[in-house]
Amino acid sequence: MLAMDYRGPYRIRAQQKPDPEIEHPNDAIVRVSRACICGSDLHLYHGLVPDTRVGTTFGHEFTGVVEEVGPSVRNLKVGDHVLVPFNIFCGSCYFCQRELYGNCHNTNPEATAVGGIYGYSHTAGGYDGGQAEYVRVPLADIGPTVIPADLDVDDAVLLTDAVPTGYQAAEMGDIEEGDTVVIFGAGPVGIFAAKSAWLLGAGRVIVVDYVDYRLEFVRRYAQCETVNFLEVGDMAIHIKKMTDWLGADVCIDCVGCEAAGSAMQLLTGRYLKLQSGSATVLHWAINSVRKGGTVSIVGVYGPTFNAVPIGNAINKGLTLRMNQASVKRHLPRLIEHIQAGRLDPKQIITHRVPLEEVADAYHIFSSKLDNCIKTVLIPPRARSAQLAQ
Ligand code: NAD
Ligand code: ZN
Repeated sequence: MLAMDYRGPYRIRAQQKPDPEIEHPNDAIVRVSRACICGSDLHLYHGLVPDTRVGTTFGHEFTGVVEEVGPSVRNLKVGDHVLVPFNIFCGSCYFCQRELYGNCHNTNPEATAVGGIYGYSHTAGGYDGGQAEYVRVPLADIGPTVIPADLDVDDAVLLTDAVPTGYQAAEMGDIEEGDTVVIFGAGPVGIFAAKSAWLLGAGRVIVVDYVDYRLEFVRRYAQCETVNFLEVGDMAIHIKKMTDWLGADVCIDCVGCEAAGSAMQLLTGRYLKLQSGSATVLHWAINSVRKGGTVSIVGVYGPTFNAVPIGNAINKGLTLRMNQASVKRHLPRLIEHIQAGRLDPKQIITHRVPLEEVADAYHIFSSKLDNCIKTVLIPPRARSAQLAQ
């Protein structure tokens, strides 16, 4: 099959690899119909995630048609078109029973924090991902959801990560009616966090980034206010000015470890690797939220440590909430929002690229060229299947 292949930082290509096979009775093999590139893939692409091995196939956001099932699979049949949450989870451990699917205890033998994730290095279990023609889906009775007949596949593929992560980011903010919510990051996750903040009762939503075309998009798509951080001085003072000097009720980090905006953070976090990436947004969020407010973090940070102003958080009495998204938990509600017309995720897709051109697709997304917000890769077999319909 054709699949994306990691050769080292900034070096990827599409190449032929062996087809995946059923390795366990509850596996399925899925023929990929769509696979997105995520901001999280950029951390891998930039060489920032430990134990990202040469030869890995990335891709944790995909839909596909079930091609083959193992003998114990009961909930899926060959021919089903499914969306596959980025978390690989068992559904029955201590954490899964509490719907913390992102923290499954059984699917990642290498770590005590995160559970298994498709195509996300050996730090997340070493599973191959879906930027390929076929992918092995373990625990096939648990993870995948059959795409409802009235749901567009472009919407479905965004339900594997970006939409539920944005939603959970807002949910963890414990937004109360009328709250002012500041969201750092106008990428796909920040855009859906902004949409979700309104759904959860926010009275004011402000999105911060420095890429103008993304700020323009989110203003229109999520009817929010925006701040280009290059145009303001101190972020906390600016947010306080905008909020009667109290600070925001809720601040949400949808940026993570590659945050721009502070030369010192970039130097210590990205280049010298003295901390697990740049903690700029953690500083901005903790310092911009009001006393007693909530900071919600879904931006990804590395496994070692970051220097954060924890004293300010304590003295202000903040609530800090964070996690990998538990995608499956949010799906029923989010599918309902889409069916009712309250959410239209596919509007964020700016690029549809043949899998053969995966190297260009990463370059364009990473460098924010061509007004890129979200890229969907289409494998050759999926293209010929579409033509045959
Ligand atoms: P993205 O790279 O498309 O978007 C990130 C945005 O942040 C960019 O537009 C960038 O310009 C902006 N940015 C950079 N520095 C900033 C700063 N200091 N202040 C404000 N904005 C800044 O990525 P994405 O797909 O939207 O993902 C966002 C983050 O969420 C990534 O860290 C990703 O790894 C993480 N993520 C987490 C989960 C989870 O389950 N917790 C799931 C998906 C993605
Ligand atoms: Zn993702």
